[in-house]
Amino acid sequence: MTWYHESLYDASSPAGSFWEDDTPPLAAGVDLGPLAGDAQCDVAIIGGGYTGLSAALHLARDHHVDVRLLESGPLGWGASGRNGGFCSLPPSSLGLSGLIRRYGEAEARRFISSQVDAIELVRSLAHDEGIDFRPQGDGTLHVAHSPSRFAALEEERDLLGGKFGVPVALLSRAEVAETSYDSTEQFGALLNKISFGLHPLRFARGLAEAAARRGAKLHGNSHVERWEKRGSEHHLVTRGGTLRARRVIVATNGFTRAPVNRMLADRLMPVLSNIIVTRPLTDDELAAQGWKTERPCSNTRNLLFYYRLLPDRRFLFGARGDLTGKPQDGLRMRALLERRLGEVFTAWRNIPTTHYWRGFVCMTGRLTPAIGQMPDDPTVSFGLAYHGDGVSAAPWSGKMLADMIGAGMPLSEIPEPFRGIPPRIPFPSLRRWYLGAALGYYWLQDK
Ligand SMILES: Cc1cc2nc3c(=O)[nH]c(=O)nc-3n(C[C@H](O)[C@H](O)[C@H](O)COP(=O)(O)OP(=O)(O)OC[C@H]3O[C@@H](n4cnc5c(N)ncnc54)[C@H](O)[C@@H]3O)c2cc1C
Repeated sequence: MTWYHESLYDASSPAGSFWEDDTPPLAAGVDLGPLAGDAQCDVAIIGGGYTGLSAALHLARDHHVDVRLLESGPLGWGASGRNGGFCSLPPSSLGLSGLIRRYGEAEARRFISSQVDAIELVRSLAHDEGIDFRPQGDGTLHVAHSPSRFAALEEERDLLGGKFGVPVALLSRAEVAETSYDSTEQFGALLNKISFGLHPLRFARGLAEAAARRGAKLHGNSHVERWEKRGSEHHLVTRGGTLRARRVIVATNGFTRAPVNRMLADRLMPVLSNIIVTRPLTDDELAAQGWKTERPCSNTRNLLFYYRLLPDRRFLFGARGDLTGKPQDGLRMRALLERRLGEVFTAWRNIPTTHYWRGFVCMTGRLTPAIGQMPDDPTVSFGLAYHGDGVSAAPWSGKMLADMIGAGMPLSEIPEPFRGIPPRIPFPSLRRWYLGAALGYYWLQDK
């Protein structure tokens, strides 16, 4: 179990996101509906987000594997259908210098380079499979929220651009004000020229449609309640039936819970991320804040603000926080985000918001993501924990899992920061307190 409120796991409720109101339903026949009776396949996937859907697509399309996917809610119900749509890198909270210190320069470079490929994979999947993913912006901005944080951006430029060859440019406060926007928390920015924004739910549903078209069998509303191994066969038991498979991929990310996945669940730290969206802004309102960019932005706060103007001119504003997940604490988070939006963008102080929602991002004790096989059972693979940067990392991870299972690609092909099961978090029942301490520390640092 985790300590969060049960309502966050209720896959029969919509996420409440703006994206749900802005996405056509899945094409008929893509979601086969709840698993009914007994079924069998070569590879079963638990979790219908980007990781699971991409694994299903690549297994079916590239390796002709008989694959079925089980998802608790509608396909894309988890983080994949409700994120901020920043297609960016890197999927780690270790920091670039931390990656080099722990893994050495060569592996850190492989890691970043794989994630440049991951961003390209999103574009090519959308192109090849005809996914209407609504790309937006010729880059993303990482904005210094205080004058002292500009130095950190200089270091990021030297590492990301200098050492790892990612096309970036450092912009002064005046340049950002001139080209993008100004605010009380804008002191220059690093422009990452390969990242961009997209429509997360359209992308998730597009992946599902592509996977189904290529022969994968996808079952929404099929929560795996029990998992047994009988001989060499896995039995995944849902309310309506049992799926038998030779291999299983766990793609449940921040929604991973015991008892189904106890061994993994105790190694993961689910963290809530929250988003508000305003009504569409008028020309005058945009001009009042000097906003003129399509580029998604995040700032240098540890408790991260991320924000972007959507194609219909609504403003999306997100931040991490809330340790309980209780509905009343959600209302408090919404009020906090609305207040902070008005403080950072003073011209928009009284603009009403139309949507608030939240969901889990997933972290590990080692602060890097995880792809691999269970140490006690190599027929079980997993791909998860993208540290809040999974829009490109998760589809890439799904492809890696498919290539490992379908073509025998060795795990050593995966850059080391991703490789293998993350360490067990000591006394996992204390995770809420660890997280509380970390949030308190970051809050003080941000001050
Ligand atoms: C509010 C928010 C904003 C974010 N913003 C960004 C962003 O802008 N950019 C970015 O890169 N990343 C962002 N992320 C993170 C990103 O969305 C995730 O990293 C990514 O979607 C992970 O994909 P996934 O498929 O691994 O997991 P998910 O999409 O979370 O899918 C896991 C699925 O597993 C299912 N599941 C769990 N248990 C079971 C079970 N027992 N049986 C069947 N199914 C089960 C769940 O229902 C869920 O749908 C954000 C996340 C959130 C919550």
